[in-house]
Amino acid sequence: MLPVTEAIRIVEEQTQRLDAESVALREARGRVLAEDVIADTDLPPFDRALMDGYAVRAEDTEGAPATLRLVGEAAAGRSWRGELKAGEAVRIMTGAPVPAGADSVQQVELTRETQAGATVEIDKATAPGQFVTRRATEIKKGETVLRAGERVSPAMLAALASFGYARARVGARPRVAVLATGSELVRVEDEPGDAQLRDSNTYSLLGYAEAAGATVEPMPFAADDEGLLRRLIRDAAERSDALVLSGGVSMGVYDFTKSALHALGAEIFFDRVSLRPGKPTVFARLANARRTLVFGLPGNPVSVSVTFNLFARTALLAMQGATGTRLAEHHAVLARDAKGSMERASYLPATLRSDERGRIIAEPLKWGGSSDFVAFTRAGALIVVPEGTRTIAAGSVVSVLRLPD
Ligand code: AMP
Ligand code: MG
Repeated sequence: MLPVTEAIRIVEEQTQRLDAESVALREARGRVLAEDVIADTDLPPFDRALMDGYAVRAEDTEGAPATLRLVGEAAAGRSWRGELKAGEAVRIMTGAPVPAGADSVQQVELTRETQAGATVEIDKATAPGQFVTRRATEIKKGETVLRAGERVSPAMLAALASFGYARARVGARPRVAVLATGSELVRVEDEPGDAQLRDSNTYSLLGYAEAAGATVEPMPFAADDEGLLRRLIRDAAERSDALVLSGGVSMGVYDFTKSALHALGAEIFFDRVSLRPGKPTVFARLANARRTLVFGLPGNPVSVSVTFNLFARTALLAMQGATGTRLAEHHAVLARDAKGSMERASYLPATLRSDERGRIIAEPLKWGGSSDFVAFTRAGALIVVPEGTRTIAAGSVVSVLRLPD
């Protein structure tokens, strides 16, 4: 059976990048940069005071206490434009430019103004460079500060703003249609009758796809009817870069996703993965003008979450040009035995915490089965148990993939 990592590689290989677009800075959070961000100024842009106090020449404070002539003031947004000469000091505020001629700052606590502010006494000698951040020591003009392919975080918005990026070039958002299938489904507003259940996959898929940067069109769920499915897939694909279906990929008499895709002439890249939960996952491409990618995910809600995050999320991020398209991998210590399977790799929902020694501890969720999505709400990661491993013992170090928040 196809290994998970190989399936992810196929998804990456078959995913086309969308065009880039320009967005206003305040729209850029969560978007993927399509350009490197270059510093247009030095940081700091001038020699900057790190303390409130007095800018001085260190040599004038040797043998402190020393009394210096107070010749001016520099505050945030207002520099003192003269050049400091021997025996002089300038009152200075944190963040203000250190005047020419001065090489250090003494903090206000170790000073005292005298003669009605005409002079200042410095109690302790300064060392050259003390409390001064020299121009360009943090970033030099022309340096690359962020790279194309990074997703813009709130902190990165500040970096973009600092270097004058009122607009940023980012990958276009993929348009995704979400379609849950199953004749047992009722709407969240409705009371499930005998043998029915509320459609929950539409909502988790919508959330995950939006979290991955997509624009999502949720469709009303569809009954298990091949003709209907074919029509809905064809229509939704016209306006979608990717289509995420849940349900109908198993071997049941009423599982029509694959036959509908075949009937539409889709190219099917894989329809089985060595994965527990999530074996019957389908990945295909339609023959329409947009060459829409289709993810046919198994219907049970935990499988949906696991397979979306392993495969569909990767495609949506790759469409935006992201460099990191896979779930972040860490190592963790197992809190309890983890059960694997001989035939398939297991990706087991787990909670993560750290212990007092600073180690990451992964605890497999106690879950009744693959439909136990209530337990899954606590999952922060998936523990990877390789194919052919019956049990990994508590205390072992395992690979874990962090789920998106
Ligand atoms: P299927 O993959 O169609 O065989 O579905 C497997 C199981 O997942 C079904 O028996 C349902 O219990 C559940 N399921 C399928 N679709 C949904 C959905 N949209 N929301 C919640 N549960 C679902
Ligand atoms: Mg079904």
